[in-house]
This record gives sequence, structure tokens and C-alpha cells, in this order.
Amino acid sequence: MHIVRTVQAMRHEHEQWTGSVGLVPTMGYLHRGHLSLVEHARAENEHVVVSIFVNPTQFGQHEDLASYPRDIEHDLQLLSKLGVDVVFLPTVDEMYPSGFTTYVTPEGPLVEQGEGAIRPGHFRGVATVVLKLFLIIQPQRVYFGQKDAQQVVVIRRMIEDLNLPITMQTLPTIREADGLAMSSRNSYLTSIERARAPVLYRALSAAMDTFDPQHPANAQDIIQAAREIVDSMPDIRLEYIEIRDYNTFLPLQTLRPPALLLIAVRIGKTRLIDNFVLHTDGRWDTGLIGDQLSHANP
Ligand code: AMP
Repeated sequence: MHIVRTVQAMRHEHEQWTGSVGLVPTMGYLHRGHLSLVEHARAENEHVVVSIFVNPTQFGQHEDLASYPRDIEHDLQLLSKLGVDVVFLPTVDEMYPSGFTTYVTPEGPLVEQGEGAIRPGHFRGVATVVLKLFLIIQPQRVYFGQKDAQQVVVIRRMIEDLNLPITMQTLPTIREADGLAMSSRNSYLTSIERARAPVLYRALSAAMDTFDPQHPANAQDIIQAAREIVDSMPDIRLEYIEIRDYNTFLPLQTLRPPALLLIAVRIGKTRLIDNFVLHTDGRWDTGLIGDQLSHANP
């Protein structure tokens, strides 16, 4: 496994390769959710690149860029067991040298609502870094987690809008045994907060359970079922519970597939997001419990 820190060295690696390249972009502090993306990339491509880069441009001024968890040694140890060819580990200066001026700015309701409303500029940072990674690494396939549902829609749109010759694979959210979606940010939680954190999964489950495919329901009624679960927990601040169209991300008045059921809360200082997907065939994608999967154990 090669550790590559510069754009030039990454291009050099690429020149040696003939087959397809799969890319998994990450911010590190890897968990089984990330590893499931890497395993899929490994199974589908001749060459696998994992990028680890805590991208400053996607963090707001008062967000957790400085405190974002990092453990490169452990990350490399995990990736080396999965047959990764290259870990792309650039510095901030390598990605944003002095004089950097050119950003990718998605516009419209897709980035003004949901996460975009709470984190202005977030998707501009995401789209910019992801396009740069695509151009530096030149993958045929890229792997993203359903966990970040709006990010998936933004990147899918960017690939289509800019005619990028790339196939995007979106993979299910990997969860802890109690339903909490795995996230690098879970490490911020105190033990009391961690015990409360499955509330996101329970709220989404309560909303899902009220849905009867024979009688598509008013979105507000479904949201209310989720809201009651959150309200019953102490010290949890609800940011949003929403029902949106899976493709356009526009809000739905009536829950009909394909749709996203999305939640964001604050527990103490930690912000957590989660979602379930309602597919066109009426099937729900609620994610997978990580302990039951075969990955190397982080
Ligand atoms: P991050 O390191 O948080 O930027 O995430 C890197 C990639 O891993 C993104 O595509 C995320 O959506 C994905 N990811 C994060 N958490 C999970 C999870 N619990 N299950 C599946 N994918 C995830």
C-alpha cells in the first residue's frame, strides 16, 4: 500500500495503472462505515484509492475543523488489511495552495435547504474538494455512504451536470448494534450522550412504522411520530426532521417513494444526522448493523 501525499506523485501512480480505479473519499478516523465502502471498491476495481483529507473549506467558521478526530496510523493499519493500493493523504497546502481561487458552487434549493441551510457554504466546500479528488485520482467508480444523504444528491448532480465520466455507488449506512449510525463524530459523545444517541434511529423507525404503502400519509403526521420520540428524550435539540424527494431533495407533502426521511439533532456539542430511504418498490433502506458484517474490526 503506497502512501501518496502530492498531486504529482498521485499522477505518477496512475500512469502505472491499466485497469479501473475505484475511489473512496474520506476525512479519516475510519470506522466500519468507511470500510464497507472500501470493500466494495476493492471488489469492483483493479485499483483502489482511499483519500484521507479533513477538508477545511467544508467546515463553517464555528464548526469543529480544529477538533475533528484524527488517527492516521490507525487508519493506515485498517486500510492495509483491505488491499488498498494507494492512500492519498495530501496536506491542506497541497489541495489549496496560496492563490487558490476556483470553487465549485452548487446552487438552488438542493444546497439551500437541509444541511445547506444550517451549514452555509458546506456543499461548496464538498463539491470543490470532491471534484479536485476526481480530477487528481481519475477514478471510474466512486463510493459514497447513504449516511450523508444530501451529499449523495449533490455529488450525483455534479457528476451529471459536469458530464464526469464516473459511476457513483451509494452504499447503505452502517450502524452500531443499537442503531446509531457510525460516524467519526460519535467519538465526541460523553457516555451519557452516547446512551441517548440511538434516538435518531428510534425516531426514524417510529416514522417509518406509521407509513402504510396502501395509504400514503401526510408528511407532517409521519414527522410528528418521529418528533414525539425526540421530545421524550432529555437534552436533545432537534434541528430538523424532514421528508424529501430522493432525487430532487425537494420537500414532499405526502410521503411517496422514492423519498428520504431525514433527521438532524444536537446532543450536547455534537451534531448528528441520519436518514432512511423509501425506495420505489416500497422497500425501506434503514442501513445495516456493523457488528454483523465481516469487516476487519476497527
Ligand atoms: P467522512 O469521513 O465522514 O467524510 O465520510 C466518508 C464517506 O464515508 C462518505 O461517503 C460518508 O457518507 C461515508 N460514511 C460515513 N459514515 C458512514 C456509515 N455509518 N455508513 C456508511 N457510510 C458512511
